[in-house]
Amino acid sequence: MATERTYIMVKPDGVERGLVGEIIKRFENKGYQLLALQMIKPTKELLEEHYTDLKEKPFFPGLIKYMSAGPVVGMVWIGKDIVKVGRRLLGETNPLASNPGTIRGDFGIDVGRNLCHGSDSPDNAEREISLWFPNGVVQWDPTENNMTQKDL
Ligand code: UDP
Ligand code: MG
Repeated sequence: MATERTYIMVKPDGVERGLVGEIIKRFENKGYQLLALQMIKPTKELLEEHYTDLKEKPFFPGLIKYMSAGPVVGMVWIGKDIVKVGRRLLGETNPLASNPGTIRGDFGIDVGRNLCHGSDSPDNAEREISLWFPNGVVQWDPTENNMTQKDL
């Protein structure tokens, strides 16, 4: 089981519906560690690069329009098997096929408004992290400072 990083993004409909905290909470509750967080209104060029594998798909223009509609919240998370487990927390691409208990299963109906993104492989995760966080992200050890006990 590898310790990996993944890129998770709350899409414009998720931001509009006030689900940013809910989505962060599910990853924190699971035990994963947050490394980076940004709200950004992405350009079409950035989105086209992010979704470059889907360029030929009939839904591509609609996808870019949807993703350009408002700000997104992009995050980097780290932990054991997080690429696969992160996608399990999100649910299936189509919210109607997603189990209750998943983000898309609990909050969505339409594939074209499915609230969140998660990288689909460790390689793609690293590609997406470089694309969305070109200046790099922090590394930190959540156990090193013992903030609740020391120096009070
Ligand atoms: N999408 C869509 N119609 C489809 C398939 C996908 O609008 O028939 C959108 C949807 O927002 C999805 C995104 O395109 O999240 C990327 O598709 P992908 O197959 O990579 O799904 P994901 O990895 O997000 O589950
Ligand atoms: Mg995908």
